[in-house]
Amino acid sequence: MIYDRSIRAYVCLHCGLTYTSQDLLMESQKEFERKLQENKKRRKYEEYLEWWTASKK
Ligand SMILES: [Zn+2]
Repeated sequence: MIYDRSIRAYVCLHCGLTYTSQDLLMESQKEFERKLQENKKRRKYEEYLEWWTASKK
């Protein structure tokens, strides 16, 4: 990914797609939200495991 000053956008050298900094920001926000969701899921599962383990005692 290189920054092209003439079009004020980032250009991917592999596929030739261009991203503005706004695009990249949105992309990283999506990624952040995805990770947040994943962590939530993991926590729920851990809580369930704890509950399950505790109920067996
Ligand atoms: Zn690409």
